Amino acid sequence: MIISMRPHATREEIDHVCERIAEFGYKVHSIEGEERVVIGVVGIGDVTICLESLEATPGVERAMRISAPYKFVSKEFRKGRSIIKVNGCEIGGGEFVMMAGPCSVESEKQIMETAEGVAAAGARILRGGAFKPRTSPYDFQGMELEGLKLLRKAKQRTGLGIITEIMSDRDVEMVAEYTDCMQVGARNMQNFALLKSLGGCGRPVLLKRGMSSTIKELLMSAEYIVAHGNPNVILCERGIRTFETATRNTCDIAAVPVLNELTHLPVILDPSHATGKRSLIPALSRAAVAIGADGLIVEVHPCPEKAFSDGAQSLTLADFARMMSELKPYIRLWKEARARELAAV
Ligand code: PEP
Ligand code: MN
Repeated sequence: MIISMRPHATREEIDHVCERIAEFGYKVHSIEGEERVVIGVVGIGDVTICLESLEATPGVERAMRISAPYKFVSKEFRKGRSIIKVNGCEIGGGEFVMMAGPCSVESEKQIMETAEGVAAAGARILRGGAFKPRTSPYDFQGMELEGLKLLRKAKQRTGLGIITEIMSDRDVEMVAEYTDCMQVGARNMQNFALLKSLGGCGRPVLLKRGMSSTIKELLMSAEYIVAHGNPNVILCERGIRTFETATRNTCDIAAVPVLNELTHLPVILDPSHATGKRSLIPALSRAAVAIGADGLIVEVHPCPEKAFSDGAQSLTLADFARMMSELKPYIRLWKEARARELAAV
């Protein structure tokens, strides 16, 4: 159940609703929205009687039953799209948002050159890992705090928003200080301690789909973050494990429209990890625009052959600029379709 309070409901009214919920034997999760409080209710009991009673309680605007196992993130909870702001970019709104940058932050020169190049080509958000989840403990693990500081410097120089990966709940405060958006990588999609701590991090979260996770599991993980107090979650399809070996992962392109049917959260595509191959990225990027993704996150490196990680799937700055210009007519159509949709709501 979800209880939506009237705008400007008083603290007493909110407390009273929470007491009533407890009397019915349910547990409360409360989200303090910008202008209204929305209360998530979980547990087992007589839903119909509880709903009727709460609807008649002062301060309550609407009490609704949500049948999906993920409540706050479901389309049942919100029909329209959620717009998530990252450094002034409205993801899920009327702009197709490009995030680009290296897999790992490697040096000041590398991140500055990349930031300037991708900004000039039209990216709005700079990606770059300072904490890297590597399969081998002997591979480059990231520059950590030094890398975060370089990302901040790149933001100061270019105005780009920053997205970087958070790997452990112990680092949430530190990473949040340096970034505009916290990335949860595929390997941590079900790190529930991390997801819970991101509920209170004060930054939007980009949640990448686990490589062996179903769409339902992805949505349940998003629900963890929202139920713990952070409604600003963006989802990312980045390819899943299948029997296919021609690509690094298999891009589940259908995940994008499926998610658009199930959730109001924005959905972006990562064609770099989805394919593992530089040559395939422009085609998948066009597909992402065509199927109504809200943006892309793409790996770009000034010299991919020297990259510390994921060089084979990284575009050069020139490749990226070319792709951005080739995407323009597609993005124009995307914008017209999105404007029509937003106007119809
Ligand atoms: C990354 O973005 O560099 C990364 C490690 O991605 P994923 O978690 O999708 O593998
Ligand atoms: Mn990578």
